[in-house]
Amino acid sequence: MLIVRSFTVLLLSCIAFRLACCFSSSISSLKALPLVGHLEFEHVHHASKDFGNRYQSLPLAVLHPKSVSDIASAIRHIWMMGPHSKLTVAARGCGHSLQGQAQTRDGVVIHMESLQIQKPQVHSVGAPTPYVDVSGGELWINILHETLKYGLAPKSWTDYLHLTVGGTLSNAGISGQAFRHGPQISNVHQLEIVTGKGDILNCSERQNSDLFHGVLGGLGQFGIITRARIALEAAPTMVKWMRVLYEEFSAFARDQERLISGDSSKFDYVEGFVIINRTGLLNSWGLSFTAQDPVQASLFKSDGRTLYCLEVAKYFTLESKHVITQEVKASLSELSYMSSTLFSAEVTYEEFLDRVHVSEMKLRSKGQWEVPHPWINLLVPGSRVDDFAKGVFGNILTDTSNGPVIIYPVNKSKWDNRTSAVTPEEEIFYLVAILTSAVPGKDGVDQIVKRNQRILDFSEAAGLGLKQYLPHYTTRQEWRSHFGAKWDDFVRRKSRYDPLGMMAPGQRIFEKAV
Ligand code: FAD
Repeated sequence: MLIVRSFTVLLLSCIAFRLACCFSSSISSLKALPLVGHLEFEHVHHASKDFGNRYQSLPLAVLHPKSVSDIASAIRHIWMMGPHSKLTVAARGCGHSLQGQAQTRDGVVIHMESLQIQKPQVHSVGAPTPYVDVSGGELWINILHETLKYGLAPKSWTDYLHLTVGGTLSNAGISGQAFRHGPQISNVHQLEIVTGKGDILNCSERQNSDLFHGVLGGLGQFGIITRARIALEAAPTMVKWMRVLYEEFSAFARDQERLISGDSSKFDYVEGFVIINRTGLLNSWGLSFTAQDPVQASLFKSDGRTLYCLEVAKYFTLESKHVITQEVKASLSELSYMSSTLFSAEVTYEEFLDRVHVSEMKLRSKGQWEVPHPWINLLVPGSRVDDFAKGVFGNILTDTSNGPVIIYPVNKSKWDNRTSAVTPEEEIFYLVAILTSAVPGKDGVDQIVKRNQRILDFSEAAGLGLKQYLPHYTTRQEWRSHFGAKWDDFVRRKSRYDPLGMMAPGQRIFEKAV
């Protein structure tokens, strides 16, 4: 017994010694890299966390690149170390991931926001359509500010703009404009990528198209997005932003689908959310929206009921305000919401797009931003969304006071099937984002995670055929089934662009070849 214990202690000591040697040789070789930016080895804790606030992996180092060649040198160096080095590489945008997707244990995190190659460069003259060239670590909010100086703006957004270009393009980038323009990955002309071998490649529909399509929605698996060329359009100045309520899910979904069908240009933005067990709802809306009929609105009671809020927006310039007001009135008259619940606001385009930042500030001031976020995001086929709603809203999910439940349809025909992004097969599918926060004094993380699992189990048992957005799986089999027909291409691209499997290990799809 004593001999076995001594042997175990000796074995563990040997392993620890070998790991220490391995780390110190990795550190010294990384330190020798000639970089414009720098590598940080000590204060690396910030890169071990993310917005989800549940998963933590401490990296060996954080690279703050000042140039694309800094990124290429570091990756090439790790690639040249070969399979016996355990070092992996994770690009980190803002770390707004939920389950450690931008982390690497004992590897190198690349802090993409440091890569300020240049300010966003707007090209509006001489090109058939305007575009902007941006760094992969640029925040969408900065792109908005810069492009608005030229009266232009990107076409497709996320609800929250303090996210990086590389981070959203690695997923899809969806918001209420996606029904018209497709997700953000459908609005990119060109990318510059540093592959898992340290090669710097430009890619587009015409050049290195396999890499271009693979990287879009590719969960960071094939390389680092260092630059992107993003399509722009003329920016409106103002937005008419409206909310109305429905009691019946089917009426709500019917109206949402009508608004995104055909080449409907009734609204520029269509989203919605579910309200369960909330009191004083319309009073809280009254702080930023005006009721069309304040007396009727004051009589409306939301208490306890499950309600569905349609949220739409129409863009305009001051010159077109009168025409728009008439058009909006006509479009609303075709919908079947509860008439007493029409609320509207007029805000600038920038205020509208940056609306979630206002909530962020409020939550930060209450200490409720940096709490755990066991969120799930699902893509539900349109033909089964009624079944999903019946089974989940008000049944499995009985309260929405700890975070919104967003729901809106998009059209698959606006998504390029050649990209790595995975969606249901039907033309219309819904994003359902259940964004519950684990706020002290309310449901804890475990309870929320269990509830999320019940939603997934229910959907599986009912054969709803949904897909996860911002997916999180732990086994190869689950990933294979998530990617479905795209799996073989995904694996082929991985072995072509990242043969050692060193990139974005936090997604837990592949392991580094050793
Ligand atoms: P990170 O979390 O840092 O990275 C995400 C993944 O991409 C990681 O695997 C990382 O390694 C990889 N990656 C990051 N940068 C690069 C790069 N340059 N090259 C290659 N790989 C890279 N998403 C939507 O689509 N629509 C929304 O409306 C929306 N709203 C959100 C609201 C909030 C409050 C939050 C926190 C998130 C929201 N998201 C939304 C999700 C968001 O798109 C993802 O979190 C996404 O990962 C972007 O975050 P990030 O830039 O911080 O990327």
